[in-house]
Amino acid sequence: MSNVQSELPVLIAGGGIGGLAAALALVRRGFKVQVFEQAAEIGEIGAGIQLGPNAFHAFDALGVGDKARGRAVYTDHIVMHDAIDGYQVGKIETGEAFRARFGNPYAVIHRVDVHKSLLEGAVETGKVEFFTSTHINQIEQDEANHTVTAIDQNGKRWVGQALIGADGGKSVVRAQYVNDPPRVTGHVVYRAVVDKADFPEDLRWNAASLWAGPKCHLVHYPLRGGEQYNVVVTFHSRQQETWGVTDGSKEEVESYFQGISPQARQLIELPKTWKRWATADREPIGTWVFGRATLLGDAAHPTTQYMAQGACMAMEDAVTLGEALRVNNNHWEKALALYQQSRVTRTARIVLSGREMGRLYHAAGVERLVRNSLWKGRSQERFYDAMEWLYGWNVKNCLSI
Ligand SMILES: Cc1cc2nc3c(=O)[nH]c(=O)nc-3n(C[C@H](O)[C@H](O)[C@H](O)COP(=O)(O)OP(=O)(O)OC[C@H]3O[C@@H](n4cnc5c(N)ncnc54)[C@H](O)[C@@H]3O)c2cc1C
Repeated sequence: MSNVQSELPVLIAGGGIGGLAAALALVRRGFKVQVFEQAAEIGEIGAGIQLGPNAFHAFDALGVGDKARGRAVYTDHIVMHDAIDGYQVGKIETGEAFRARFGNPYAVIHRVDVHKSLLEGAVETGKVEFFTSTHINQIEQDEANHTVTAIDQNGKRWVGQALIGADGGKSVVRAQYVNDPPRVTGHVVYRAVVDKADFPEDLRWNAASLWAGPKCHLVHYPLRGGEQYNVVVTFHSRQQETWGVTDGSKEEVESYFQGISPQARQLIELPKTWKRWATADREPIGTWVFGRATLLGDAAHPTTQYMAQGACMAMEDAVTLGEALRVNNNHWEKALALYQQSRVTRTARIVLSGREMGRLYHAAGVERLVRNSLWKGRSQERFYDAMEWLYGWNVKNCLSI
């Protein structure tokens, strides 16, 4: 049964990048949307993220391409060095040839600016209602009437025609329907944003840059027109970790980066405050649809950060959901089935590839030597061909029909 005429809103649990992208996609299909966010404000914290061309295709499809482009830094290349001896393991040019190949740039951006671009777009539609300090605890469904009810922490009941669980890696919606355990990686991430004046001159590259060390790596790239730099350091923890964020210390970071080159080591001297993220992902699942409820973004496919694609995938999810509704005339059951069919394999590939990339970045001993030899002499065209499955995504090919 089609519900084009239904007056009920679509409910979205979570006002992060995925939830806002979903709101935009749904408004473009003619729906009214209610977004429930547990935080007191709709906002983002944290540092920078990298965006592949697929993210810009998604921004365009959501009507906020110009806003996002204006806030991003387009890189000239992606580069990986060995953190011990500084050897250049691989360099991918992301200038004109890359942009021509994939129709959009590779970029780095503050995650606040991604979120802001989506939020401005959603507010401008006038069709999205936001409810902050609202934690969705439970979902109920009335199959006969085709309704979904989200119940918040105060017991208030919100009724909609469908529900999108965009409530992040620790999703309540996923817990209710799937209840699978996280896979704690034992990898710990420290992130910081540093002003240009404090950032080493010899590392001020217009690039997404990675230093791969034994059981650790460091990442840096410019933000906000090069006025700031994003610094991320990751290591295998020696202790048993629990998924989540805690306070960290410079002493802890220093203890994991012995023996790496002085040029890379400069990065761990920079941040003034330290927060540590003990990371996790989950095994990919094949079912994301539960009646009129579905999952989107990290709730559907939480991943390690090593492919730099979690936010990109959340936006792709949203665009694909919108397209699945469009080709099915807003018929929810058919659209959700097509959404799931179109997203499961691709996002699982990101999760599984992320694990492999983590292994590559952290290789030690002979494995490190193999890693360093992998891309020797590889042409840019071969790099681009290998990336086609990922960056060649766009709104026209997003559905697996
Ligand atoms: C170190 C690191 C580096 C990364 N780098 C990149 C990168 O370079 N490129 C990239 O594309 N991605 C990157 N990512 C991944 C990216 O940050 C996430 O994939 C993305 O933020 C997921 O968005 P989301 O909206 O699905 O989830 P979230 O950002 O987690 O948003 C979920 C929202 O839902 C709210 N919420 C949660 N539970 C409830 C509830 N029950 N009720 C109401 N509200 C709720 C939360 O407060 C939050 O606002 C990185 C991640 C990490 C950790």
